Amino acid sequence: MDRVNPATGEALGVVEADDEAEVETALETAAETFETWRDVPLAERENLLSNAADVLRENETEYAELMTEEMGKPLAAARSEVEKCAWVCDYYAEHAGEHLQDDHIGTEPGVDSFVAYEPLGPILAVMPWNFPFWQVFRFAAPHLTSGNVGLLKHASNVPGCAAAIEEVFREAGYPEGVFQTLLVGSDLVDDVVEDDRVKAVTLTGSERAGRAVAETAGAELKKTVLELGGSDPFVVLDDADVEAAAATGARARTINSGQSCIAAKRFVVHTDVYDEFVEAFVAEMDALDVGDPTADVDLGPQARADLMDDLHDQVERSVAAGAHVELGGEPLDREGFFYPPTVLTDVPRDSAVAEEEVFGPVAPVFEVADEAEAIDLANETDLGLGGSVWTADRERGTRVAREIESGTVFVNELTKSDPRLPFGGVGDSGYGRELGAMGIHEFVNRKTVWVQ
Ligand code: NDP
Repeated sequence: MDRVNPATGEALGVVEADDEAEVETALETAAETFETWRDVPLAERENLLSNAADVLRENETEYAELMTEEMGKPLAAARSEVEKCAWVCDYYAEHAGEHLQDDHIGTEPGVDSFVAYEPLGPILAVMPWNFPFWQVFRFAAPHLTSGNVGLLKHASNVPGCAAAIEEVFREAGYPEGVFQTLLVGSDLVDDVVEDDRVKAVTLTGSERAGRAVAETAGAELKKTVLELGGSDPFVVLDDADVEAAAATGARARTINSGQSCIAAKRFVVHTDVYDEFVEAFVAEMDALDVGDPTADVDLGPQARADLMDDLHDQVERSVAAGAHVELGGEPLDREGFFYPPTVLTDVPRDSAVAEEEVFGPVAPVFEVADEAEAIDLANETDLGLGGSVWTADRERGTRVAREIESGTVFVNELTKSDPRLPFGGVGDSGYGRELGAMGIHEFVNRKTVWVQ
């Protein structure tokens, strides 16, 4: 696996992938470890998770620098990511017990009945590079604590992060085999999914990868959770605080240099505030600093050359279809894979940036006549992950939020994940939920017990 610094394009070295014998050893270790790990008292598993939070905090700088080096995230954002990983560990260390305690239903008279939550076994996590620590910890924190063991197949461009995460669990005192990294390319994933020792799979990434993994898992009748990105609408209604919407909208589009599944990807703006919004939004996007991610910047490079090329191709196709470039629109003329904040208006509703997921700092802005058209346009996608609605009227915001077909909607705030809240999508954004109580219940046997 080639490690490349996206800020410079320079090779950082090659990491030897695991061979089939190493994968076999890991699978066997996972299956054997599960038999003892499942019986470790929950309180002990929670303590280990607290230790993992400590290890993360102690080594924040090291892990942040690794992320920045491998995928170009600005260092301050990488630090925040490590802190968020520690938060999800704290959350489940504190709440796993309450989420996993027997749920007494009480089918009276004279009968005790309850639901028990029991682990399934080794779970495969296929994870992406964009939040290389967070995506893994939001899987591992709940599912190791519920008594499963984890196998991580991380994205091929972040093998250093994968190894460092394995080390977090080792340093925290977890038994060998509870969390293992498989350094393999995507071509070996099918074999792992088909292996009898693997009981379920979760994938975060592209629709293409999700469909491939779900097909193989489906043939094996194995449970999957899929988190496949979005094309989140950012709806600005006529009574919105336009300045606030423009400022937050610029952050919501450019978070992680635009490479977030829940970034705002389509700006849907009421005609009464359209001109005012576009002017303020372009100013906010223009004010963002792009550059060396080890410095104090807002945006770093795109994570890989091919991803930047795909992004620019989406812009070029949309411009050819009639979109107008208000800002940006060309890769930066410098080393590395830098794409500037870009704003497009007059965007045809059947153009690339309207119809495809845009994984970079490119914002199409659409003008709509009224609230009904805003909702129509917001729902004009097969993706349904998040969304954001801006209005001075919270009741109106809540009503519009209910009309948007997605897994999450925030009113007067950007969409973000939070360990306490379920996270996931509908439609082509996938299915299943991560985080909160619902997240930890995805990979357990919800066993009904009836006692006469
Ligand atoms: P991928 O979906 O290809 O990568 C995500 C993970 O899936 C990686 O671990 C990858 O492994 C693995 N993978 C890829 N193809 C398969 C397959 N057929 N079977 C099993 N596993 C597979 O994303 P890309 O990095 O190529 O990014 C492409 C686009 O995907 C982005 O532009 C964005 O639109 C979307 N995306 C969405 C993310 C999200 O947060 N929802 C995150 C990342 C990407 P390997 O790296 O070895 O190929």
